[in-house]
Amino acid sequence: MKLIPLTEQPTNDASADYFTGNVRLDGFFTPPPPARAGGGLVTFAAGARTAWHTHPAGQRLYILSGLGWVQVDGQPRQTVRAGDTVWFEPGEKHWHGATNTHAMSHFAIAEAIEGRSVDWLDHVTDAAYLNQND
Ligand code: MN
Repeated sequence: MKLIPLTEQPTNDASADYFTGNVRLDGFFTPPPPARAGGGLVTFAAGARTAWHTHPAGQRLYILSGLGWVQVDGQPRQTVRAGDTVWFEPGEKHWHGATNTHAMSHFAIAEAIEGRSVDWLDHVTDAAYLNQND
């Protein structure tokens, strides 16, 4: 067993390369082999979201607080709130984040394949985020 104290896990800002807006990461873990599951707590300020991306082995989200939006490419955006869980299929292009009015936090878990658990794509434009494309 390994207990990792909170004091050894500082809150980190998510990279602006892959996220838009204010996004904080807590307790993120990468899987020590042979474990494959990694993830952590993601807290999005209102208006913040991931870039478009895929997960080679899929991803599970558990919404902990607030109000969020999730969208799979080519499908309608959906609203999520505390207690909702989301499963993204392997290779499914998607984004997740807060709504434009509320913060949202979720716990995210994704398995790695050959050491990789996510493939990042383009940022989600304001128009796409606000569902103003059509
Ligand atoms: Mn994802």
